[in-house]
Amino acid sequence: MGKRTAVIGGGAAGFFCAINLKEMCPDAEVSILERSHRVLTKVEISGGGRCNCTNTFEGVTDLSNVYPRGHRLMKRLFHIFDQKCAYAWFERHGVPLTIQDDHCVFPKAQDSHAIIDCFMQLARRHNIRIETRHFVNSLQELNHYDAVCVATGGSPTGRGLAWLQEMGHQIEPPVPSLFSLSVKDTGLHDLMGIVVENAIAFLPGTKIRIQAPLLITHWGLSGPAILKLSSHGARLLHDHDYRHPVGINWTGENESAVRQQLEENIARHPHRQITTTPPFQLQQRLWNYLAGKSTDWHQGFRWCDIGKRDMNRLVSVLCSDTYTTAGRAPFKDEFVTCGGVSLRSIHPNTMESRVRPGLYFAGEVLDIDGVTGGFNFQAAWTTAYIAAKSIAELSPSE
Ligand SMILES: Cc1cc2nc3c(=O)[nH]c(=O)nc-3n(C[C@H](O)[C@H](O)[C@H](O)COP(=O)(O)OP(=O)(O)OC[C@H]3O[C@@H](n4cnc5c(N)ncnc54)[C@H](O)[C@@H]3O)c2cc1C
Repeated sequence: MGKRTAVIGGGAAGFFCAINLKEMCPDAEVSILERSHRVLTKVEISGGGRCNCTNTFEGVTDLSNVYPRGHRLMKRLFHIFDQKCAYAWFERHGVPLTIQDDHCVFPKAQDSHAIIDCFMQLARRHNIRIETRHFVNSLQELNHYDAVCVATGGSPTGRGLAWLQEMGHQIEPPVPSLFSLSVKDTGLHDLMGIVVENAIAFLPGTKIRIQAPLLITHWGLSGPAILKLSSHGARLLHDHDYRHPVGINWTGENESAVRQQLEENIARHPHRQITTTPPFQLQQRLWNYLAGKSTDWHQGFRWCDIGKRDMNRLVSVLCSDTYTTAGRAPFKDEFVTCGGVSLRSIHPNTMESRVRPGLYFAGEVLDIDGVTGGFNFQAAWTTAYIAAKSIAELSPSE
């Protein structure tokens, strides 16, 4: 008889683990136990329905920049299954991929169903049993399995982690990551829709600084800079009940470069009105707002009218404009959970529980999460592949 394996959770990690296990070990009897009536629901809605399934990692010099939690483990696991392996895996299994200019990888079909169809076909071909409406919160009913892989995803409330904690696993408290920020500033809300390509968002008093495009919305701040900031600052922001100062550098430059460019503007066209000549390619409406905030300007205010005090205020507003956040924004762009089963509770080379031999973990249930850009799915593919490999390498059952 082949190895009997139960995979709890029919999401990205669960399917990837089940399929790879069958490919490595065709005799294995593999079942996916999914609590809801449908599988792969997050894959379906991911990436705006296109599924940003991985990233080329080009320009990523330090994994901690893209995995605020779990970067050390990811580095180790990438020696076995990294983004190149994932890319090749999908292409080999009939899902051609395409790379965007921002290094994000999507199915060429621009449709998450390309991945769902691939997984469903492979599950059928390999006789993987899929049991929907099968909720599992104890290993008791799974005693007849040789191995169990927990791939239950993030648990924002922590309820989905309680049974694992009761078994003795250490749990890092779950808190949300990857969210936009509400800011109560009507002047800012009037600028809704403006994108600043090269902004820097930062959390004052910390080292957290993200240089990326920023979007002003009708409730506050969003875009890659804010989503990444929320990921790196997930715990801190949570601990402050999402009421924390957030700083924006609208120029992407440091203070001395900003001051120099403003002084050049004064020298080049001293008699022009400052409103007609936005620096740093700032959009007109944004520039009017920022200049209005920082100078005692009036109709016809010219560059040569800027005094020392105005200059200091302008530099300060351009480089460290500070807002107090008023909570998380109501809409979820891409929402993942920071926290989960502590990496201290698993063997880092196999994904096996240190508490319960034969029990494995994969995907977002673990305390690994990444910023936007395909990094979260990559963590799911990598951990699921390693779990499958470890189960395949178990000695055969009698
Ligand atoms: C709107 C949105 C967009 C996203 N877009 C992207 C993107 O483009 N790129 C990217 O990299 N990441 C994206 N993510 C994050 C990504 O979807 C997740 O990181 C990824 O799905 C995690 O995979 P998983 O298999 O670990 O968990 P999940 O996909 O959440 O799957 C877990 C499954 O387990 C089931 N389950 C839970 N508990 C039990 C139980 N007790 N018994 C049985 N079954 C159970 C759940 O019902 C679920 O089907 C997005 C997330 C959201 C919400």
